[in-house]
Amino acid sequence: MDGLVEREIVSKKTIRKYTRVLAIDFYWTRLRYIKSIKKLERAWKEKKLNSIIRQIAWVYGIPTNKMRVRYGSKSVSRDAIAHVVQNASIHAPIDIEFRESRKEILKNMSAHLFMFAVAHELAHVVLHARNHQFKQSEVATDILALIAGFAYDHAQFNKDGSIGYIRKNLLSFTHKNVFEFANKIYL
Ligand SMILES: [Zn+2]
Repeated sequence: MDGLVEREIVSKKTIRKYTRVLAIDFYWTRLRYIKSIKKLERAWKEKKLNSIIRQIAWVYGIPTNKMRVRYGSKSVSRDAIAHVVQNASIHAPIDIEFRESRKEILKNMSAHLFMFAVAHELAHVVLHARNHQFKQSEVATDILALIAGFAYDHAQFNKDGSIGYIRKNLLSFTHKNVFEFANKIYL
């Protein structure tokens, strides 16, 4: 589901809106993330990538019984780490495909980068499943992963200086907003 909105340009106002709305709609993801940190770290050390994916699905409340994972997929574009393929039927399986093999991921990626990539893809899944108003936005998808608690890997900058879909000059602004909105519990 990558590249839904080509070269999405967002203002500070839009980032603030995405962050505020998503922090309220998905406030419960952060508590689940905090409960998952140790398990996620252990799974990475034990090289259990599928356990990481299942745990991140739990953070978002996504059922894993229809999830299929494929590594070394040729259909993932060169500039992406992974993508999700979902058929229109809600009964169809959700396919998560990674460009690199398990071995390459463990060799080339940090734990943070792999987890953020998974958190981004599964954020797509949960936004679509709920028919959320921001489901078409890659930036909002990144922000949801940040709200849950996943962190960008700062070593992983794109060629244009951005990380993920948020431009470099808006990163500290985004983090400030995530911090402001996501550390509250909305009851
Ligand atoms: Zn995406």
